[in-house]
Amino acid sequence: MTQLAPASDIADATSQTYRDAALGWLGEFGRAAEEKQVGEIVRLFSSDPWWRDIYALTWDLTGMHGADDIAEILTTALPASGLRDIALDETRPVTFENETYIEAVYTFTTDIATGRGVVRLVREDGTWKAWVISTVLTGLKNFPFNKVTTEDVGHPEFNYAAAPGTRKTVQEIKEERRAFRDSDPSVLIVGAGHSGMFLAAYLNTLGVPTLLVDTYARAGDNWRLRYNGLLLHDMKWAVQFPYMPFPPAWPIFLSKDQLADWLESYVEHMELNLWTSTVVNRAEYDRDSGRWSVELNRDGEARTLHPNHLVISTGLNGLPKLPEIEGMHEFKGITTHSSAYVGGAVAQGKRVVVVGAGSSAHDIAQDAYENEASSVTMVQRSPTYLFSQRNGVPMQFGRYYSHDHLPIEDADLLASVNPTALARKLGPGLTQKIAETDRELLEGLERAGFRTTMGPENAGLTPIASTGGSYYIDKGASRLIIDGNVRMQPGEIARFTPTGVVYTDGTEEEADIVVLCTGYTNVRESVRPILGDEVTDQLATVWNIDERGEVRTAMRHSGHEKLWFVANGLRISRILGKPLALMIKAIDEGLLDPRISVEKKAAEPA
Ligand SMILES: Cc1cc2nc3c(=O)[nH]c(=O)nc-3n(C[C@H](O)[C@H](O)[C@H](O)COP(=O)(O)OP(=O)(O)OC[C@H]3O[C@@H](n4cnc5c(N)ncnc54)[C@H](O)[C@@H]3O)c2cc1C
Repeated sequence: MTQLAPASDIADATSQTYRDAALGWLGEFGRAAEEKQVGEIVRLFSSDPWWRDIYALTWDLTGMHGADDIAEILTTALPASGLRDIALDETRPVTFENETYIEAVYTFTTDIATGRGVVRLVREDGTWKAWVISTVLTGLKNFPFNKVTTEDVGHPEFNYAAAPGTRKTVQEIKEERRAFRDSDPSVLIVGAGHSGMFLAAYLNTLGVPTLLVDTYARAGDNWRLRYNGLLLHDMKWAVQFPYMPFPPAWPIFLSKDQLADWLESYVEHMELNLWTSTVVNRAEYDRDSGRWSVELNRDGEARTLHPNHLVISTGLNGLPKLPEIEGMHEFKGITTHSSAYVGGAVAQGKRVVVVGAGSSAHDIAQDAYENEASSVTMVQRSPTYLFSQRNGVPMQFGRYYSHDHLPIEDADLLASVNPTALARKLGPGLTQKIAETDRELLEGLERAGFRTTMGPENAGLTPIASTGGSYYIDKGASRLIIDGNVRMQPGEIARFTPTGVVYTDGTEEEADIVVLCTGYTNVRESVRPILGDEVTDQLATVWNIDERGEVRTAMRHSGHEKLWFVANGLRISRILGKPLALMIKAIDEGLLDPRISVEKKAAEPA
């Protein structure tokens, strides 16, 4: 039976005690792994064990729970990967986390890769057993991430005398490389938001020729052109860019313009190849050559490229979903989807109805109020999970990411140990604590007619981030609702009249602008126009969870051997972009069969 570490142990604890426990456990784990003894490994685990493999042993994001599940996966993954060389990590060896477990960071290798992991040990029947363990792919043995060292001084590539008249400026070299006139990129990334850029940065440092394309005219326009007043929800320490952390004096919550300009400078400083004002018209895959043929239009010039991999990084959503509502076309005002609503002065003096009660609905209602709309109504069909930026965000995200956080790679390693299914299981405790801190806010909202929920399974944000759902992190709009500046209307719009709307409870309201914050189709649908029906229908839909509880398809296998969907928040794109880049490199170097993406396609949710 699992117990807390006995109080006497803790009272007498020296770091040596815990270091010895970690060394002892890792020693046994290492021996069993090298001998490929699955049974021996399972015996080192507690009665309710969890394992999260992040591409290291399974070339996938694999959450495991229970001895049988772990044994089933290891039976294949252990011989296939060649897990070995397990050692306590001397850069971050052991922390005594709290009274429930000790935590050790370790390193390992496989036949072709290097990795790091974390094990949390609990006391069970008098011995230390693993409760949760992670195995994370961090590198390929023979293809290291580029890094210039002092030994490179004097290297001919860095320090040479060019023949007279042949010296090129750095800008000329960059432009030539970016143009891809005489060669093809190995990876073509469609969509240059942060997800696409982070992947491109990792691929660049692995020496993989990569091209990003975007319809926007300027890097960062995906943020720059959004409504004023947009601030990120996460604290800046959680959303920093790989290799390029934000200045220490920047505010805790970045504005859209700070993020936009940082994205633009990221392209320059990370030397990413980006074509802006570029549209992808068609893409076709040739299985024999293992290459795509992609027709693009770069600012008026037609180009055809033949990359190995096509990455779709066009955002979290597919196409806007616009419900068909009775009388909609007779309405004399403006009806628009949230994705097309620019906000600002357009709302001045207008009666604005916002349909929906999630993040964009709140932001748009607040924007309309601040721009002197004559009235603002929010229409809420189902309850929303909500917490405050001030209290909830540090509790939700601050443990590993704060002003004095660990080096970002260590923070990411520790923050991503728990399989998503375990994070969901642990979610209600934290969700309850956040709700208690926000009690005044939540009670005020309920009094104003706004309905709140604790999220699916009372687990707050974690299940919403994987399976979807309505949430809002309050940064002002809730006060407007509590004070009655934004009126709450329950239900839905039953029908439009020429001058307004009638709700399902019979209430009538005059309106000038109706903004439908009614969501999007699945991301998969965004590739249908370029890939056609046959290929698109064979791909897995994106999001939701797989049978082991991890988020499906995004940053994982799509069902097509050389097509990837890459979309996520900044933190997850930073964490998972790296092993994904390594997987693409491994495929290109012949270390991994690309058919793995077909075999590992996620099953559609029931
Ligand atoms: C109010 C608000 C607050 C947010 N706060 C946070 C936060 O705190 N933390 C966080 O991690 N995230 C936050 N987000 C980010 C958001 O949740 C997504 O995570 C993010 O936008 C997804 O990034 P992405 O790179 O995957 O896609 P996007 O940023 O949507 O970028 C996609 C890019 O693809 C391009 N594109 C689309 N279609 C095509 C095409 N056919 N051809 C070529 N290019 C195309 C677009 O022009 C765009 O540049 C916030 C968003 C909002 C609106």
